[in-house]
Amino acid sequence: MLKRLDAKTLYIDAHVKVGVLLLEGGRCAIVDTGLDDDAGKQVLKVLQAEGLTVSRVILTHHHADHIGAAALIRRRTAAQVMASAFEKALVENPYLEPFYLYGAAPFDALENRFLKAKPCPVDLVLEEGPLVIDGEAAGRAVALPGHSHQQMGICSPDDVLFTADSFFPAEVLDKYPIPYHADVTRARATLEALLATGHAAYLPAHGEPVSDVKPVARMNLEVMDRLSDFILEILTRQPRSREEVLAAVVEAFPVTLNSTQFHLTYSAIGAYLAHLKHQRFVEPEFTASHMLWRRSG
Ligand SMILES: [Zn+2]
Repeated sequence: MLKRLDAKTLYIDAHVKVGVLLLEGGRCAIVDTGLDDDAGKQVLKVLQAEGLTVSRVILTHHHADHIGAAALIRRRTAAQVMASAFEKALVENPYLEPFYLYGAAPFDALENRFLKAKPCPVDLVLEEGPLVIDGEAAGRAVALPGHSHQQMGICSPDDVLFTADSFFPAEVLDKYPIPYHADVTRARATLEALLATGHAAYLPAHGEPVSDVKPVARMNLEVMDRLSDFILEILTRQPRSREEVLAAVVEAFPVTLNSTQFHLTYSAIGAYLAHLKHQRFVEPEFTASHMLWRRSG
């Protein structure tokens, strides 16, 4: 279902929100695509029903639920695909996601459609700043790093900011109490930066549009700080390995572990430990057989 946010800014209200920027001549640019071919067919159906043709696909970051339909949409339209340089490498080589989550060539259960999208060629590198599509001003790309290393948001000409996964609404945080961030330090900085903005509206990929970003950005910062404080507290009591930290966190903030969820959580815990290390609160120590994290000082 296509919903309108302003004159030139719409979105498809699917499982992952797909932003739509109207261009001249019945063309449009879309922001993200959905998980798979079925999602992509649905996007094209909704746009075709409105007489719109896709001339640009902008990918905010490489996660499969955002890019999985890009290859199909690129194939079925004349659209060029854009992503930031780092995310481009992963969109074109989706095997890298299960590879980095596992830290080696992954075992079979990690090569699933939620972690490994269909590859899609990326035609153009998306850089921060004014977005011009076929000579037409189409808003701005805004760096929103942290959730993914080089995640980008798109601010439409009507001043609606598509925020991708830079923050999650309360219902998502209730379901996933350890929200995924590849870089907690930068994800926090992105949220702090969003707090200082006053766009007309904000649309997260996994939530409803909001006109005031502050309450939800603060809530996301609180969730991250609670996790950070919890990890610091358990390491103050005793040094632990990364996997032991994961176990303690999952006991306190329950998630159901399976191959996918374990490795996403393991990556997120690594991001929290690196964040605490940047702040000089923790440091690694090595025993004869273990690498442990301990409280500094
Ligand atoms: Zn994501």
